[in-house]
Amino acid sequence: MPIIIENLHYTYMGGGPFEKNALHDVNIKIDDGSFIGIIGHTGSGKSTLIQHLNGILKPTKGSVVINSIDTKQKNLKELRQQVGIVFQYPEHQLFEETVKKDISFGLLKQGLSQDEIDRRIISAMQSVGLDEDILEKSPFELSGGQKRRVAIAGVVAMKPQILVLDEPTAGLDPRGRDEIFGYITKLHNESNMTIILVSHSMEDIARLTERVIVMNEGTIFMDKPSKEIYAQPEQLEKIGLSAPQITYLMKKLKAVYPGINENIFTVEDA
Ligand code: ADP
Repeated sequence: MPIIIENLHYTYMGGGPFEKNALHDVNIKIDDGSFIGIIGHTGSGKSTLIQHLNGILKPTKGSVVINSIDTKQKNLKELRQQVGIVFQYPEHQLFEETVKKDISFGLLKQGLSQDEIDRRIISAMQSVGLDEDILEKSPFELSGGQKRRVAIAGVVAMKPQILVLDEPTAGLDPRGRDEIFGYITKLHNESNMTIILVSHSMEDIARLTERVIVMNEGTIFMDKPSKEIYAQPEQLEKIGLSAPQITYLMKKLKAVYPGINENIFTVEDA
C-alpha cells in the first residue's frame, strides 16, 4: 500500500495563542495507480494534508508513510522524487528565461544525462499538449493556460509515482480548464501514476476521479468511491451544498454515470 496516513494530527503554531488544529485524526490508504479527489471548503485542511505527502509538513501526531518512506525521516530526497506536487497557481514560480530551462529545473538536480533530460522534457511537454516550438520562448510570452501547463510539465518531467495537483485549473477559462483536465486524465490512463486532485468543485471531482475524500474542519468527512458518495445527497447538504446545487450535481452525474440508481435523485423532490 503506497500511501498510508494513520492517525494524522497537525497543529499550526502549537502551544502559542494562535494555535490551530488543522488536521485531526486523519486516516487514509491509497493504492498505486488510483485517481483520488479531495474536496472540502476553504480552511477544511486540504492543503495541510497534501503538504504532508512530500514531507513539507511533518505530523504533529500520527504518521505518513509513502512507499515505505516515513516522512518524519530527515533525508527526503527519495520521497521528493516519488511525490510531485503542483501547487495552486504554479506559474507564479516560473522564473527562468526559457520554457526549456523552467521544465528542466528540477531534473538538473537529479544527476541525469543531457540526453535523458531532453527526452524527459519532450515527453512531459507532450503529456500536457505543449508544442516543442515554444522550448526557447520565455514562459512570460505564453498564454495563462500554456504557462500553467509548462509548470505542470516541470513536475511531470520528474516522473513522480504520485502526482498531487492543488486546484490545477483555478483561474483558467472553461477551455483551459477542460484541456488541463483532459491531459490529467490522459496521464492517469497512460501510466500507473497515482493522481490526487484537490478541488473545491464537486462537479470536476465527480466527473474525473474514482474515489472522493471529503474534508471538513480538519477531518475526513467521507471517503468513498465517486459513484457511491452521491448516493447520500443529504450528506452533501451537511457540508454546505444547497439543494439546487445538489440537484444540479446529480443531473451532471447522471450524464457521466448513465447506469446510476435513479433513487438517489430524491433530493430533486425536496
Ligand atoms: P484548505 O486547503 O482546505 O483551504 P488549509 O489546509 O489551508 O485548508 O487550512 C486548514 C486550517 O489551517 C485553516 O483553519 C487555516 O486557517 C489554517 N492554516 C493554514 N495554513 C496556516 C498557517 N501557515 N498558519 C496558521 N494556520 C494555518
